[in-house]
Amino acid sequence: MSGFPSDLEIARAARIRPIPEIAAAAGINADAVELYGRFKAKIDPARLDAPPPAGKVVLVSAMSPTPAGEGKSTTTVGLADSLARAGHKVMIALREPSLGPVLGMKGGATGGGLSQVLPMDEINLHFTGDFHAITSANNALMALVDNHIYQGNALNIDPRRMTFKRVLDMNDRALREVVIGLGGPSQGVPRQDGFDITVASEIMAIFCLASDLADLRGRLGRITFGYSYDRAPVTVADLGVQGALTLLLKEAIKPNLVQTIAGTPALVHGGPFANIAHGCNSLIATQTARRLADIVVTEAGFGADLGAEKFMDIKARTAGLAPSAVVVVATVRALKMQGGMAKDQLTRLDLAALEAGVPNLRRHLRNVEKFGVTPIVAINKFGLDSQEELDWLLAWCAAEGVHAAVADVWGRGGGGDGGDELAALVARVVAGPNSFRHLYPLELSVEDKIRTIVQEIYGADGVDFSVPALKRLADIERNGWSGLPVCMAKTQYSFTDDASRLGAPKGFTIHVRDLLPKTGAGFIVALTGAVMTMPGLPAVPAALRMDVDDAGNPVGLT
Ligand code: ADP
Repeated sequence: MSGFPSDLEIARAARIRPIPEIAAAAGINADAVELYGRFKAKIDPARLDAPPPAGKVVLVSAMSPTPAGEGKSTTTVGLADSLARAGHKVMIALREPSLGPVLGMKGGATGGGLSQVLPMDEINLHFTGDFHAITSANNALMALVDNHIYQGNALNIDPRRMTFKRVLDMNDRALREVVIGLGGPSQGVPRQDGFDITVASEIMAIFCLASDLADLRGRLGRITFGYSYDRAPVTVADLGVQGALTLLLKEAIKPNLVQTIAGTPALVHGGPFANIAHGCNSLIATQTARRLADIVVTEAGFGADLGAEKFMDIKARTAGLAPSAVVVVATVRALKMQGGMAKDQLTRLDLAALEAGVPNLRRHLRNVEKFGVTPIVAINKFGLDSQEELDWLLAWCAAEGVHAAVADVWGRGGGGDGGDELAALVARVVAGPNSFRHLYPLELSVEDKIRTIVQEIYGADGVDFSVPALKRLADIERNGWSGLPVCMAKTQYSFTDDASRLGAPKGFTIHVRDLLPKTGAGFIVALTGAVMTMPGLPAVPAALRMDVDDAGNPVGLT
C-alpha cells in the first residue's frame, strides 16, 4: 500500500514503555527481571515467583507461502494484542531474528505494520547477545575439537568424518567450504571444513529445546560432532567440554522480555532455522510465558506441513504441552499463486485463481485436525485485496466447516480493532476441549516415522530413500537412535520436495537423500532436496538501504 509508513517508521513513532512497567503488568516479580537497557530485560525463570506452566498455547502457522512471507509474525503479534484488548491475560513467544536474513533479502522478523514487537531495530540487530553466545559456544567446541586432534587425538577422531562446523550469524557463501590447519605442523591438522549460519547450528536447536541448565548440559554432552576412524560416534561428553559450553550459555538461556506496540508482553528468545531444525522459539520462553499468562501465542516457521508438524511432534512432545488451537494464516495473494497465477499478477482480482488455490489451504487445515487440534483461518488482509475475494474466501471456509476471520492487524493493529473477530474465534476454541495427539509414536522405526509424515501430512504416495540414506538408517539403528523423532527438511513452497509443484499435488513420492542424526537436539533430520545451512546474499542486499542518521537513529531496516 503506497503512502503507508515503513515498519521502522511505525516502530520509531510508537510509544514504548520502560520494560519494568511491562514486567510488573505481566506479573513478573522485580528480582526476576535483569535489565538490558531501558526497553529489554532478561527474565530468570529460576527466580520467577509464578505457578508451573498452565497457560494455553495457540500456535500460529500458515498455508504454503509466497517468498515474501504471509504474515505469521505479524498475525502472532496482532492476535495477542487483540486478545489482550478483549481482556485476556496473554503473552507472546517468538523467535529472535538472524542477521543473515535481516541484511540479506527478507528483512526483519519482528512483525509488521501496527503489529510489531519493540524496540524493533535492537531486536533485529544484536538484541541481548544470545546469538553471539550461541556462536561462541559452537566455535569453542570446534576449537577444542581441532586442538584435541592436534594434541595427539586420543579419541581417534577421523578428520574426514566431522559432522559439525564452525558458524557465524551472517549470509556468507564464500565460507561454505574451506580448508583449515594449513601452514605447517605447528598450525594444526589440515582438514576440509565449512561454516554454517548460527541459526542452523545444532547448538541453536538444543538451546531451544532445553528445559533448564541441567537439561542443556545433558543435550550439549550428547552432540555427535563426528566419527572415529573405526566409525563410532564421538560426542561432546567424550571430549568432556559440555560444562564449558553450558557456562558460555548460562545468561543467554534466560528469555528476553520486550513489548508490542500495544504494550503486550512478549518473550523473544532463540531462533533455529525451520529447515535443518524445528523452527520455533525456546521451550524455556514458551514455558515461562505459560507460567505468567492464560493464553500464549507463538509461531512456528514455514507452512503448517513443516512448522506445525514439527511443533506438534518435536517441541510439544519435548515440553509435554498440548496446543489448544492452530491459527493458519492465509492470504489472497498466496492462494492465487497456489492456483497457478503468475507472481507479478497477484494483485489482480481473479476468483478462478483463488478457487484453484484453495485445495492447498484445505490440505493444511485437514492436517491440523489430524493432531486433534481445531484450525482457525486468519485471512491476513493486504491493501489491494478486493472485498469480493475476501468474501469468497470466508464463504469457502464456512462451507468447509472451518472457523475463519479477516484480520487487518497489519493496517489497523491488534491494539486497534484489526483482529477483534479473529481473537474472539481463538478465545472460543481455546476454551473448548483439547484432544491433542502426536502424529506418530516414538517407538515407530525412523523409516516408518518418515513414511507417516509424508503420507499423512504431505499427501505423498510414499518415500524413496537414496542409497546413502539407507546406509544411514542402518547406522541409526546400530547406534540406538531409532527412538528419536524426525525433523523433516523440505521446501516450504510445496507439499512435494519440488518447490515448483503448487496447490495440493497427488501421486508423488518424497525423496530422502540423507539423514543427519542430531543426537544433542534429539531428532533425526531427513534431508529432501537441497538444504541451505549457509545462505548467500542476494544481488541487492537489504544492507544497501541501511544507515544510521546523525542522531544515532537507524535508517532502512524494513
Ligand atoms: P512471516 O512471519 O510469515 O515470514 P511476517 O509477519 O514477517 O511474515 O511478514 C513479512 C512481511 O510482510 C513484513 O515486512 C510485513 O510487514 C509484511 N506484511 C505482513 N502482513 C502484511 C499486510 N497485511 N499488508 C502488508 N504487508 C504485510
